Amino acid sequence: MKSINKYILVFILFSVVTNVHAENVRVRILSTKIIKNFIFSPISGSYMIYGDGILLMDYDPTGIFQMAIEGDSIRLKTFEKNIGKFASLKMVAKETFAAYKVKSIDPTSHIRTYDDNLEVSISADKSQLKIINIVDLEKYIAGVVESEAGKNSSLEYYKLQAILCRTYLLAHINRHVVENFEVCDDVHCQAYLSRATEDNDLKAVIETKGLVVVDNELNLITAAFHANCGGETCNSQDVWAISTTYLKSVKDTFCLHETAAKWQRTISREDWKSYLQVKRNTPLEDSLKNEGTTSFNQQNGRAIFFVEQDLKIPLKTIRADFKLKSTYFSIQPLGDSLKFSGRGYGHGVGLCQEGAMRMAKLKYNFQDILHFYYKDVHLVDLSALNYFKQE
Ligand SMILES: [Zn+2]
Ligand SMILES: [Zn+2]
Repeated sequence: MKSINKYILVFILFSVVTNVHAENVRVRILSTKIIKNFIFSPISGSYMIYGDGILLMDYDPTGIFQMAIEGDSIRLKTFEKNIGKFASLKMVAKETFAAYKVKSIDPTSHIRTYDDNLEVSISADKSQLKIINIVDLEKYIAGVVESEAGKNSSLEYYKLQAILCRTYLLAHINRHVVENFEVCDDVHCQAYLSRATEDNDLKAVIETKGLVVVDNELNLITAAFHANCGGETCNSQDVWAISTTYLKSVKDTFCLHETAAKWQRTISREDWKSYLQVKRNTPLEDSLKNEGTTSFNQQNGRAIFFVEQDLKIPLKTIRADFKLKSTYFSIQPLGDSLKFSGRGYGHGVGLCQEGAMRMAKLKYNFQDILHFYYKDVHLVDLSALNYFKQE
């Protein structure tokens, strides 16, 4: 950090954080589902309910409310009575620590729990409810850490994941701004399936509060991560055509014996042949004579292309077309089929989660792990902002 001018840093981070609207984040929840009807019920604390901006009631914490689309409005009711129809509804927590559960009427849906406030409106085309969790930034980060990193990892790993999720949020805070929320709860932004319930997730967020990662130019990094790199991560430009100073390929031995280190897949020669035929775009009679390349080797490191005569097919295209776990595979002919022997799971750019979890178990600290997977990056504390404001 010594090469970085503190005042420039503070100014840049200040401009980032002012977009976060103080300390809260607006997250669209249940964003992958079409919700027309759902139930809201507090699980701790108490709530005030507003309909179209008017206070309707101070809410009994044991109550259950149903919200459903009815024409252009949202019908709000309890099991006992109809309360009314509104264009928008807001459930505002009266205490700092208040939480609620929601559940779609769809019988296959699960109960989800969230902290802080809820806002409900109708989508522009009137086809579904738009449900927004207005939540303290750090509580949101804890929920993302739990959703993205799973359970049973070590505290040091969760700390790193918290820093990366916070960095990712602040770098993408304007992603949905025209839709009147900031991030969605899907992997499009970051998975956020519920509030955090694990002590370690909450502790990790508290112990890293405000920490984010920047590159040499003081930009928040694109904190890319994936499940398992298979032994070697990828350069960002080889996967996304975007070159960065920090998303650089590294050899990683930490993930080699973890759950997602290896995979196998069998594809018939016929399917492979017709696939190459389409890619070559050659006349059918020529293609029928030509079986195409049936072996391919990445034993000594990652390649970017599958080379077929004068044709270069990006491995990421083959991965997408055949829904393979990674681009890090070799191919061997096996009777009427081809055997794909693969390594790793995911796009391979940035942090390898299983490798990082293993490093944490081996007692590397979160700074060591961060600098192993991201080159030339710096950890900075957003609390420097307070110093700037007092100047
Ligand atoms: Zn999104
Ligand atoms: Zn790895």
